[in-house]
Order: sequence, then structure tokens, then C-alpha cells
Amino acid sequence: MSRPFDAIVIGAGIMGCSTAYELARRGLKVAVLERAHIGAGSTGRSSAIIRQHYSNEITARMALYSLRVFQHFDDAVGGECGFRMTGFLVLVPARDVDGLRMNVELQQKVGIRTEIIPPEAAKEYMPGLYVADLVAAAYEPEAGYADPNLTVNSYAAAARRHGAKIFQDEPVKGIRLGEDGIVRVESKRERWEAPIVVNTAGPWAARIAHMVGVDVPINPCRVQVAFFRRPPGHEAPHPVVADFINATYFRDETGGQTLVGLIDPAEADNVVDPDDYKEQVDPDFILDVGEKLSRRYPAMEHSESTGGYAALYAITPDWHPVVDELVPGSGFYICAGFSGHGFKLGPAVGVMMADRVLGEDDPLFDAHFFRLRRYEEGEPVRGAYEYSIAG
Ligand SMILES: Cc1cc2nc3c(=O)[nH]c(=O)nc-3n(C[C@H](O)[C@H](O)[C@H](O)COP(=O)(O)OP(=O)(O)OC[C@H]3O[C@@H](n4cnc5c(N)ncnc54)[C@H](O)[C@@H]3O)c2cc1C
Repeated sequence: MSRPFDAIVIGAGIMGCSTAYELARRGLKVAVLERAHIGAGSTGRSSAIIRQHYSNEITARMALYSLRVFQHFDDAVGGECGFRMTGFLVLVPARDVDGLRMNVELQQKVGIRTEIIPPEAAKEYMPGLYVADLVAAAYEPEAGYADPNLTVNSYAAAARRHGAKIFQDEPVKGIRLGEDGIVRVESKRERWEAPIVVNTAGPWAARIAHMVGVDVPINPCRVQVAFFRRPPGHEAPHPVVADFINATYFRDETGGQTLVGLIDPAEADNVVDPDDYKEQVDPDFILDVGEKLSRRYPAMEHSESTGGYAALYAITPDWHPVVDELVPGSGFYICAGFSGHGFKLGPAVGVMMADRVLGEDDPLFDAHFFRLRRYEEGEPVRGAYEYSIAG
């Protein structure tokens, strides 16, 4: 006997839990099937930076919508997300300053609070920052970061309050598309069926799509982050910084630490088995990002390394997600491939997915932009002006 639901969501990361919440609050009977536990994938290890700096209108709008949810999380979703507003600085090389201006204009048009600032002003937001190599920077006062585990668990709790059931340690093993419009799912312990099934399995999403014979260009790629304890006199929280000159991003972390990662398109080459990859940080990585961080924030020469970890991005050819019905008319959808920047979009993605699967005439965010066919149509997502992988 199969257990019937109105919708089944595969994977309890930010995308799965936000989608489950939006579907459940619209009255659907929802089941979430999770391989391990809530937040076990990319979400639980996310740097969880929340900024609106995007180079195309739809993702900028989604980021802004999501920021408002993070800012008023208890009212919007319920519970806590641990949002800390620190501000966000974007530092680009001289060749990208015109592009920076164009992107900031685009962001201002959609209502994002952001501005171009002279290099010296960046030091007002982050004393001690090295700015001699800058011509201009951009600043977003409302940006910050959240606690990704708190956020995803609050979404899961909110979905449950609306009647959704979340089954952990319940990996999906097989999927069959029916001619009767019902999708049948087999997991570790049970069989399930629903007219709507959403694959939000992040780095595992291509494997799930393969269960119905569809190839999706989403690669699980190993990425790393490292932590450094700031020296005495530098304990105060600092803004998030995207430093495109040194190809790093960094943000404040609890305990007077700074979290650092790379902004590097070559991370797309580190394709790994998502069930078997090295989760420890490489010593070389710590040395590399430590040096780059010290170039931008020289006080960090006296910082103490406090470790790090490796985790997975789900990377697509254009670093933007695939949101689509995998086989037209089947009821089997995918919402995955958010590369290194999905967490901050999570609240908007749940709304976009719910609108998409329920066939809303006037969706808040049009998922067509993220259709799978865009790659074969030669229309990958491109920003008006991109530096590296800003999105
Ligand atoms: C180190 C790091 C730093 C990041 N920093 C940022 C940042 O600063 N800002 C930002 O916006 N984004 C950031 N991201 C990206 C962001 O975290 C991801 O885009 C987002 O978390 C993806 O969420 P998801 O729900 O699609 O996938 P996931 O969180 O990976 O969830 C997928 C879930 O599917 C489950 N699953 C897999 N296979 C099965 C199966 N067979 N059956 C059932 N369940 C299954 C997994 O266990 C997992 O829980 C970062 C990511 C990483 C790794």
C-alpha cells in the first residue's frame, strides 16, 4: 500500500522545507522525505550570507523578498533564523567598476538599499580594511548573515504546524511516473504517491532526476571554508565582504571569528561523490585564504586559525538553479542547483515553487527564467554585468 499525499518533497534543506511550508499553508497535505536529517546537505554548512547584490532583476527581487522574511522571521514564518545585520561591502577591480555601477542601479530600481561608495568610506564601515587598490566599492547596509540550521529547522517546524509530515532517515530509492498523473516514490521503508513530487535534493538532485531517466546538469562540488579568530582589539563584528580582487568572501562569525571562503569559478571542477568526499578542510586552503584575508584586512596577520570544513555546492553550467517540471505533464518537478548562493533566496524559492506547481496565473517570481531547456536553447542565465560568480 502506498501512502497518499497531495505533494511529496524530496530533501529537507532550505529549498525543501520552504517549499513544504508554502504548499502546506496553501492547504496541501505534504510529506517531506529526507535521506538523513533536516539541514544535512549544503544548507546546514552554508555560510548563510544574506545580500541582495545580484546582476539580474529576478534574483535581485527574490533576494530582497527573502531579506524581508529574514528580517521579520518570527512574523513571516515563526521561530528564529538568527539573522544578524552587519552590512555588506563589494570590492571589485578597476576594470569592473562600470559594471558595479550598472548592477547597483539595477538593484536600486527594484528597491534594494545599496550605493556606490568611495574606497575611504569602506573603511568607515570596516576600520582596518586595505583600500589602496580600490577605485570604488558598493555598500548594502541591510545585509548580514543568518544561522542556517536554525532557519531550516524553523521552516520545518512551520511546515509541520500547517500539517506537513517530515520523515527523516528516509532516503528515496526509486520514482515512477504514472500515466494516471500520479508519481510513485519508493523510499527506505515505504511507498508513497502524490500528483506533485518536488526534487529539492541539492547536490543529490541529478541522481534523483536520473531515477526517471532525465539528465540534469547539476554537479556536486566540494568547497571549503576556514575560520580565524581575530586578534585583540578587533573583536567587534565586521561587515560581510565580497572581495573580487582577492577572490574571497568573508564575514563575521560568533566568538570574534571571521569565516572565509573562495569566490572561484574553478570550484565547479571539484566534482565529487556527495556520499563520499573529504569533509575536513585542507591545510593548504587555510594558508591560501588566510593570506588573501590578511591582504584585505592586515590585522588578520595576527589572527589564529580555528579550523574549517568542506561541504557541497550543487553547481549548474550558469551557477543558477533548475526549477522546472522534469517531464512535462508528469507532476515531477525539480528545484535544485543553487550553486554557492541559494540560502539567501530560500524564502522566495518556496513561494516560486508553490506558485509553479499549483499553476498560479500570476506568479510572484516566474520560474520560466530557470527552466531546464535554457541550456539547450543557448539561453543560460546571465546578469547584465557579472564579475566572477556574483550571480
Ligand atoms: C560552504 C557553503 C557556503 C555557502 N554560503 C552561502 C551563502 O553565504 N549564502 C547563500 O545564499 N548560499 C550559500 N551557500 C549555498 C546554499 O547553502 C545552498 O544553495 C542551499 O543551502 C541549497 O539548499 P537545498 O535545499 O537546495 O540543498 P541541500 O541543503 O543540500 O538539501 C538537499 C537535501 O536532500 C537530501 N537528500 C539527498 N538525497 C536524498 C534522497 N535520495 N532522498 C531523500 N533526501 C535526499 C539531503 O540529505 C539534503 O538534506 C553555501 C553553500 C555551502 C556548501
